[in-house]
Amino acid sequence: MEQENVKCSFCGRDKRETEVLIAGITGHICDNCVEQAKSIVKEEMSEKVNEELTSNINLLKPIDFKRHLDEYIIGQEEAKKTLSVAVYNHYKRVTQKVDEDEIEIEKSNVVMVGETGTGKTLLAKTIAKILNVPFCIADATVITEAGYVGEDVESILSRLLQAADYDVNAAERGIVFIDEIDKIARKSDNPSITRDVSGEGVQQAMLKLLEGTTVGVPPQGGRKHPEQKLVQVNTKDVLFICGGAFDGIVTAIGKRVNTHAVGYSASKKADEFDKDNMLQYVSPQDLKSFGLIPELIGRFPVLTYLNPLDGDALRRILTEPKNSLVKQYVKLFEMEGIKLSFDKKVLDHIVEKALEFKLGARGLRSICEAIMVDAMFELPSEKDVKEFKVTYSYAKNKLSKSTMNKMKAA
Ligand code: ADP
Repeated sequence: MEQENVKCSFCGRDKRETEVLIAGITGHICDNCVEQAKSIVKEEMSEKVNEELTSNINLLKPIDFKRHLDEYIIGQEEAKKTLSVAVYNHYKRVTQKVDEDEIEIEKSNVVMVGETGTGKTLLAKTIAKILNVPFCIADATVITEAGYVGEDVESILSRLLQAADYDVNAAERGIVFIDEIDKIARKSDNPSITRDVSGEGVQQAMLKLLEGTTVGVPPQGGRKHPEQKLVQVNTKDVLFICGGAFDGIVTAIGKRVNTHAVGYSASKKADEFDKDNMLQYVSPQDLKSFGLIPELIGRFPVLTYLNPLDGDALRRILTEPKNSLVKQYVKLFEMEGIKLSFDKKVLDHIVEKALEFKLGARGLRSICEAIMVDAMFELPSEKDVKEFKVTYSYAKNKLSKSTMNKMKAA
């Protein structure tokens, strides 16, 4: 019979040698070839997805990357430089395929030490924006060990997944900013025999995540529970940037550099150090004295610091960055057809107040809001106003009436 001689058009197997032979318009395909074709398609597709994701990442050379950061972040030269290099190396590692026998480049997870409101979050956020990768912020203080009230370490990745619109491949190349990493420090330098809910246990739980592992992530966040469907996310290429104020770490730094000065490097006298900004001498040892476990410190090959912001820096932050506060208000008023301007003295006054409230650049925003809220409330309803000039007396008056002033007393 004619049917008996049919062959697979791909491998040439006779119908009798196959389990299933599917007929097409002009040819046939056997079950074996279907399976093979399926795996080829899968591989090609995943390579295509990878290539597409990689080509979406805007990876600039460190110098160009820093130039972009300069547009948004005032000062913090050292941090910007260090981060530009770390990010470049990390994404180079992610975007380039490495042969198995080649040297494997380690991840460049970063820790930033700096007072609140000095730009740590802004830096991490801006980096992700320039690179065009998913980004999320997590707070280390809400993470607890499994079994305790709070969030699992994995919940950090739920947010990244959300930021990536649930595209796992994109999330796996994202950036996670973990704020207040200093708050999970061990309370004393001696490992305790009792469990330390907020400290060492959490640090231990974070180790694998930082290094790279596949974790089951509850897509909606929160605690894992048995019936929940988990999404598998590999953290091998996720860049973790952590920030913390590390209050009191300067004492440890001071102690260390002083002992060194007396010790073998006696040539470097203690008074050669800039005592007003000891953070710049921060080293992994100091993080250990502060209460981070050595294994965790080891997962952060890059350590950098942010300078406290002085009046000059605050003044520049008000006007210079691409989306500075002043530029934002001008834009808002422009949308109402009103030309907004600030007297120079107003800006000086805002800076003075921000320094007084000791909130770093974060204070600038609340002070500006206090000054501007009435104008923003009233002016959109007034048809004839085409120009609005914020004078010193206006600003001072608004500020003295606002609740901001109570902050000083607090
Ligand atoms: P941190 O994370 O260090 O506490 P943030 O990055 O959240 O501080 O800073 C708070 C706000 O202050 C930012 O949104 C930004 O507007 C402003 N800011 C802080 N530092 C800088 C800086 N160096 N350059 C420009 N803006 C800054």
